[in-house]
Amino acid sequence: MRTIAAIAGACLLSGAAGAGSGQLDEMRVGSDAVADAPAIRIALQAGHWRANEAPRELSGLKRNGTSWQGMHEWEVNLEIARRAAAILEEAGYEVDVLPAVVPQAYRADLFIAIHADGSADPSASGYRVASSRRDRTGKAQQVADLLGAAYGEVTGLRRLPTTTRRMRNYYAFNYRRYRHALHPATVGVIIETGFLTSQRDREVIVNNPERAAQGIVSAVRSFSEAPTP
Ligand SMILES: [Zn+2]
Repeated sequence: MRTIAAIAGACLLSGAAGAGSGQLDEMRVGSDAVADAPAIRIALQAGHWRANEAPRELSGLKRNGTSWQGMHEWEVNLEIARRAAAILEEAGYEVDVLPAVVPQAYRADLFIAIHADGSADPSASGYRVASSRRDRTGKAQQVADLLGAAYGEVTGLRRLPTTTRRMRNYYAFNYRRYRHALHPATVGVIIETGFLTSQRDREVIVNNPERAAQGIVSAVRSFSEAPTP
């Protein structure tokens, strides 16, 4: 899977005079390997991961994310993202696992921000899914519906009917305000996979991250198989 480092490397290469042959090799390999449709690019963002690298426009990122008994939210998010990425790559998707800071005007077929909730009330439980309020693709709500259904089906967790304004206005969706945000052609959704502060939810997101990952993978598959409206 590509990480942010690989993306930065690719950007440097494209500006370098001597990079031509390397790029050609890559293209040849690509066209041999993929005889039919080009691979679908999926971005899985591990919420809060490497938030300390936030640029000034996103300096608020450095102070958030929930935790439970010394376990940070980003660790849980990253584990789920990496497991989902491995399954998707095996199935032929191109996958980027992204940290909290999204590359400028980042482009993919689908971007899913992965987070976990926290509450002072240990009985608070369930997951939520939201689409970008600034969606220009016309597909984000459809993907949010797919993800909302698939994640519950696979994990057995309860879907909370409410989404927060912070989810719909997630910073990575806000390409008008931030340079480090999605390109408007990228479908953007966000999932709060469960409450880190809930024993019931931790059974999935901490003790069985593979299942949480499978829930996300299931939605990605439905998205890519769905006919374009
Ligand atoms: Zn979070």
